[in-house]
Amino acid sequence: MIREILKKFSFFGETKKAFYATVRCKDCGEEVKIRIKRSSDFQIVYDSSNPSHCYTVKKEIIGKDCFNLMELTLALTRNTRFLFADVKGGEFITFDRE
Ligand SMILES: [Zn+2]
Repeated sequence: MIREILKKFSFFGETKKAFYATVRCKDCGEEVKIRIKRSSDFQIVYDSSNPSHCYTVKKEIIGKDCFNLMELTLALTRNTRFLFADVKGGEFITFDRE
């Protein structure tokens, strides 16, 4: 019984967590919010100059009415706290967890 409850708790607590990043296109100014999946978008890294840097996320983003390709790079800690971000072709706005 307790095992069942723990299983449910970890399912809803961990794997259902969603991550979002918002960037602004440098050509048209559109703000684009994308969803980031832990299972497919998180790459484990080892950064000797910044040991708290544990995950890198790379996404290519295109707005609705524009052909400007933005390349987002996010750096996160082991606990998925935000460290820093870089956007080629755009501007980084926020990283959110829901
Ligand atoms: Zn644009």
